[in-house]
Amino acid sequence: MRPASLNPLFASAQALTGIGPRLVLLLKKCLALPPGVTEPRVADLLWHMPTGVIDRRTEPQLAAAVPGTIVTLCLRVLKHKPPPRGNNKAPYKVTCEDDTGRIDLVFFHAERKFIEKQLPVGELRFVSGRIERYGEALQMAHPDYIVSPEARDELPMLEPVYPLTAGLSGKVLIKAERQAIERVPDLPEWQESNWLAARGWPGFKAALKRIHQPAEAQDVSNGAAPWQRLAYDELLAGQLAFALVRQNHKVERGRRLSGDGRIRAKIIAALPFSLTGSQTAALEEIVADLAASHRMLRLLQGDVGSGKTVVALLAMAVAVEAGAQAALMAPTEVLARQHLETIAPFAEAAGLRIALLTGREKGKARDSILTRLQDGEVDILIGTHALFQADVRFKDIAIAVIDEQHRFGVHQRLALQAKGANGDTNVLVMTATPIPRTLLMTHYGDLDVSKLKEKPAGRKPIVTKMVPLELLERLIDRIRVQLSEGAQVYWVCPLIETSELTDLAAAEERHAYLRQTFGDDVGLLHGGLAAKEKDETMAAFAARGLKILVATTVIEVGVNVPNANIMVIEHAERFGLAQLHQLRGRVGRGTRESFCMLLYKSPLGETAGKRLEMMERTEDGFLIAEKDLELRGGGEILGARQSGAPGFRVAEVPGFEMLLTAARDDAALVLANDPGLVSPRGEALRTLLYLFECDEAVRLFRAA
Ligand code: ADP
Ligand code: MG
Repeated sequence: MRPASLNPLFASAQALTGIGPRLVLLLKKCLALPPGVTEPRVADLLWHMPTGVIDRRTEPQLAAAVPGTIVTLCLRVLKHKPPPRGNNKAPYKVTCEDDTGRIDLVFFHAERKFIEKQLPVGELRFVSGRIERYGEALQMAHPDYIVSPEARDELPMLEPVYPLTAGLSGKVLIKAERQAIERVPDLPEWQESNWLAARGWPGFKAALKRIHQPAEAQDVSNGAAPWQRLAYDELLAGQLAFALVRQNHKVERGRRLSGDGRIRAKIIAALPFSLTGSQTAALEEIVADLAASHRMLRLLQGDVGSGKTVVALLAMAVAVEAGAQAALMAPTEVLARQHLETIAPFAEAAGLRIALLTGREKGKARDSILTRLQDGEVDILIGTHALFQADVRFKDIAIAVIDEQHRFGVHQRLALQAKGANGDTNVLVMTATPIPRTLLMTHYGDLDVSKLKEKPAGRKPIVTKMVPLELLERLIDRIRVQLSEGAQVYWVCPLIETSELTDLAAAEERHAYLRQTFGDDVGLLHGGLAAKEKDETMAAFAARGLKILVATTVIEVGVNVPNANIMVIEHAERFGLAQLHQLRGRVGRGTRESFCMLLYKSPLGETAGKRLEMMERTEDGFLIAEKDLELRGGGEILGARQSGAPGFRVAEVPGFEMLLTAARDDAALVLANDPGLVSPRGEALRTLLYLFECDEAVRLFRAA
């Protein structure tokens, strides 16, 4: 249970004065809500950070005011000059003065009553905004603030500037932020006092205050102490949560799984190739994990085409040799089927009974699979997330392999697995995204990792070229020559239908165009097709009935057609590097020379150009991932924003890596000294976990 002291922060933002149903919708647009949260809460305002400040601290007398600058003036209202009747274009002016001069406050399309109320003749008002010279006179158009002397406090002398959305004004947001801060209770300090002192960091509430109600312009900077402190809080919460999941996972007694190697030998004998050194090494690590007394939680990281599937199959074979079952979960149906097809011949050779379960298996067929599964008549179940449905029961599952490709969201699933009903299920996560160490840490904590570094023998280098869209005709001529020699082409377009808002090349349009050029051998694959059509199209391409496959990014996940040797990617500049790398990995699998053509629309921005050049220069997934990180930041690489994986709200700061490493070490130390989180600091850290919504981890921990 979340401590009651935090409840005010997790109430709906509607609880704040001035925020009603309409504004809540705008806030929802504007604030980055964590996955699964549908209505903004007070806490979400706290993590909505300003991007800068407007400094209103200059309070000159009129004679000394510098035109073109932001000033706060203390003025006496002299006279209202409404526009002449029937002239809507003329502004409403209010002349004011101080001891040194006069100024006109100018309002266009003004509402007379409102101005009269705000600026009563003879009264004093504090007015803040940009002062201008108009001919000989001074004026200020639409002051940002007009307040009476009694309400002087409402005028923020250093006004934080927030990212906004149409219809939501900075003033409204500032008011809401102010209330949000007021609701922050005094919480026990969860950071070590030495560490805080060494870094010169303020307390939690003070840090929030200094960012949202800055006293110095530099307070609103992600390099400054308050922001760094909050970033560290967020990182520490994340690392602690991971460490808890992991501690929980490790202490759970796994069963010692060791097979006699009988099935593995048969599979290996049936393979038309020998395993690479990396594959053998990864398998040894997995086998050792399975034989150990703790549960396995391992990431198998290998570039596209590095041969992860066969490693997974052999790992699952260990479970079957030991008399148990295994599951292989893929992110999409296409990929699940592909796995089935890849695995089937070897499974058959080794006498393994496999079955497929996706959203498409329904009714009797599904029932029959479930029955066989429960009776232990299925050794390996392959499928999509349909495998996680409640009525899918194994007789005895010992290992779950999760093929993530590069669609992330693992974090949640790890937690799910870690607490799963089958308390001793070993977990192997496969990913094709070469994740740099720091990112790995932030998204998985300290996970055991096996890497497939070598590519299987016989892989040909892929010639990668950037091609401006203007040279499309020339590209098509070259493809024509290639096709006459038996080549096959993937042609990837980013969207399904032409949108009026964008000029993205639509797959459908391109398909029609290529058909005109090349005839009927051009297929189309996109997410809107029925599953059956997708399979048929894919199968036709694999059987070479289709020479060109126009596709949206549905093909990015793992399809394997060795004869395909040309990859054309339209609007390559709109893809992430990791995604481009994935797509390119679809070719270069057969005996033909392979090409990847990155079609782009000129002119290319500098970063976009650099990214595509990087693709031309190297096929090394790790280099590419690191470059991508450098050019675009971490969230993009992991597709975190799209996939709903946990992103950071405040932690993207300078010095991030150093803070992250410190947070990881801190978390490890905390749990080593206080595994029950019962010390005063431990108690405070629990609050931190709730504050950053790592409830799942706390729950785990309580169960332990
Ligand atoms: P990924 O790591 O992208 O999932 P796959 O497991 O789909 O890669 O393997 C890609 C292709 O490489 C498959 O056709 C597979 O049969 C083949 N392959 C896997 N291991 C080897 C190897 N050691 N030698 C040659 N080919 C291999
Ligand atoms: Mg694969």
